Amino acid sequence: MKSEPKPPFREQHQQRPGLERNLDPQPRWRASRYRSAGKLEGKVALITGGDSGIGRAVAFLFAREGADVAINYLPEEQPDADEIRRAIEALGRRCLLLAGDLQRPSVPAQLIERTISEFGRLDILVPNAAYQTRKDSAAEVTDAELDRTFRTNVYSYYRLVRAALPHLKPGAAIIATSSVTGIFGSKQLPDYSGTKGAINAFSKALSMELSERGIRVNVVAPGPVWTPLNPADAGLPPDKVARFGEQSPLGRPAQPEELAPAYVFLASDADSSYITGIVLPVMGGDTTGG
Ligand code: NAD
Ligand code: MG
Repeated sequence: MKSEPKPPFREQHQQRPGLERNLDPQPRWRASRYRSAGKLEGKVALITGGDSGIGRAVAFLFAREGADVAINYLPEEQPDADEIRRAIEALGRRCLLLAGDLQRPSVPAQLIERTISEFGRLDILVPNAAYQTRKDSAAEVTDAELDRTFRTNVYSYYRLVRAALPHLKPGAAIIATSSVTGIFGSKQLPDYSGTKGAINAFSKALSMELSERGIRVNVVAPGPVWTPLNPADAGLPPDKVARFGEQSPLGRPAQPEELAPAYVFLASDADSSYITGIVLPVMGGDTTGG
């Protein structure tokens, strides 16, 4: 744990959505100390935002546990997507790359259909893509911005679930990515925090409906993680990026490889068959009530 990189980092900024290959230091996603145990053998997962950051680390660990993986990302992120595909194929697993903008209402259903036609099944759905831009005030959130944040983070999740439900069998799992901001709120991210609260409540409601079908629905709520998301946030200046995660009790951001095992845990029936409807904090020491 102590060997993971600590701030200050180099001052840096990227155009949204950002590329993992341009981050310094490079995020750690291979989880070299993790030992796999075939927990997801024969399963198929679809991960949005799987090209980089947390989604990439999850895709890689799912593949190491025996799953084939479909990944959605934006066309600008092709180099990142190619890199994780190569890494997954080197494990002898299959990786289906599906570029497409989740803001478009038709895209989520297309992702599900392409996954089914390629792999013949879907066992694990990970709605993980997100959009965020920091503001100085909630008054700056225009209708267009509110639409963009909610369409990307919330509407796409609903639409993925609607399209996936006919295909999910008992033993399937949905694991959404929320955030510490969905629990505590964040002054600079009012719209984004709202989407993360919505993800938490929607997931709990869905878990109630799907428990009788043997499908579990859970959420992971990360604290700060070293990924392209924040360096590519137009509202976060390069000197703040250099100090990203410093305020966390552990004094540093998480690396993506420190998030991915939580998704394996929630995806694996051997590990979490009695767990549904939870929001699992992976927040580096920030505690919650209850
Ligand atoms: P990331 O930039 O690597 O991943 C986000 C992904 O979202 C991008 O790779 C992109 O493919 C996808 N995306 C964004 N807009 C899209 C669109 N319109 N259509 C399709 N895909 C789109 O960053 P990350 O930090 O790994 O983010 C993954 C999840 O983790 C997000 O839900 C984010 O809110 C959450 N999260 C991140 C942090 C953090 O500090 N990095 C903290 C809490 C929660
Ligand atoms: Mg990306």
